Amino acid sequence: MTIFAKIIAREIPADIVYETEHVLAFRDIQPQAPVHVLVIPKKPVVSLDHASKEDATLMGELMLACAEVARREGLDVGGYRVVTNIGSHGGQSVFHLHFHVLGGRQLGWPPG
Ligand code: AMP
Repeated sequence: MTIFAKIIAREIPADIVYETEHVLAFRDIQPQAPVHVLVIPKKPVVSLDHASKEDATLMGELMLACAEVARREGLDVGGYRVVTNIGSHGGQSVFHLHFHVLGGRQLGWPPG
């Protein structure tokens, strides 16, 4: 069971900012920007690489949830970034699919 599954099950606390039937969003415990929210499916998909065609609707809901969270956090005016890390080279550390919504400052590119 990943740490995010425990957050979904309310076994450990999180600062939840948005929730629907299929999606949960909460603040990252080690924020890399003034706003840093993680948007995850309640379904335990390991990473984007593990999403299948049957997850197409869910993936759309996740993308729209990222934009909704960004709007609620006031990031839509200045802009923001949505990113998902996949596997070892991608820098993934929690093996439950999550989208980072980052904003509130000028972000650099390319990432390290
Ligand atoms: P990644 O490295 O892309 O897999 O991102 C995992 C993210 O989860 C990191 O930014 C961590 O800071 C964050 N994280 C780990 N544990 C928690 C937690 N208990 N609550 C909130 N965020 C967490």
